[in-house]
Amino acid sequence: MGGEFALIARHFTWPTRATDLGVGDDAALVSVAPGMQLAVSTDLLVGGTHFLPQTDPRRLGHKSLAVNLSDMAAMGATPRWATLALALPSADDRWVAEFSRGMHDLADAFATDLIGGDTTRGPLAICVTIFGEVPAGEALRRDGARLGDDVWVSGTLGDAAAGLACLASRAAADAAGRSLRAQLGEAAFDRCRERLEAPQPRVALGLALRGIAHSAIDVSDGFAADLGHVLDRSGVGARVEVARLPVSPALAGHIDHPVVRDAIVAGGDDYELCFTAPESFRARVEAAGQASGVPVTRVGTVVGGRGLSLVDAGGRAVVPARAGFDHFG
Ligand SMILES: [Mg+2]
Repeated sequence: MGGEFALIARHFTWPTRATDLGVGDDAALVSVAPGMQLAVSTDLLVGGTHFLPQTDPRRLGHKSLAVNLSDMAAMGATPRWATLALALPSADDRWVAEFSRGMHDLADAFATDLIGGDTTRGPLAICVTIFGEVPAGEALRRDGARLGDDVWVSGTLGDAAAGLACLASRAAADAAGRSLRAQLGEAAFDRCRERLEAPQPRVALGLALRGIAHSAIDVSDGFAADLGHVLDRSGVGARVEVARLPVSPALAGHIDHPVVRDAIVAGGDDYELCFTAPESFRARVEAAGQASGVPVTRVGTVVGGRGLSLVDAGGRAVVPARAGFDHFG
């Protein structure tokens, strides 16, 4: 590693709280509490593929960790430690300082120690690995959905994908040729953009759902695709009423716009939790949502068969416009 990149690495040396030996040796040392399992997840974000090159570095630092924290949330695990591998085209100290600040503030908010990493010159790419703890046998998994379970989703869906559509060079236009951004207005666009660039991982909800939810996943690829993963792994189907999918005030007046309609059902990057729980636990699910400060909405039911059936209020099949999802039954 060149000298300038060694200097950059110093931006990521922060005090730790639950680490035996942090940055500075050949490896970090951590201790997992007795009776706990280690939950491990990694994500690779590549500039131009996973984020727009001009993304604000502070928000990018936030998001790089947020997507990993979201995976801990989806497992019902408490995040503890993370490592960062960063490839940068140049040693831009100001950019790195901002990126570091965004990541640090979120790590601090979730009591997660940065315990190691590496920095090198290369096309912009960010790889975070996160380590969390969960009581043995209590993790929320994708393969636990059971017949008759309710299907739930936290927060609102579609904001991030609508924000991305507004930012994409091919401006999303309605039938009259008006751009989605113009239709939403700047305040709603800003809300959507914030959901895209600075998602809030639902860690508290994930923890509150342990012992309540039968299965869980975080919505990273899109509601239909991610629920599809749960159904595949669990060997069941689900029936979801599209009109029940929760929508933010930013998008509420625009759900007939084809881009928005598609973003709600199939857009990615919301980092909400989608989970299933038995009907008898409805009050406990609602209480978990209230305790963790995020609304939860019941959107459907786990049924026999395979795949996801999306229906309108009249029970007729709804097929989203976006191609590429192979989970529809
Ligand atoms: Mg995930």
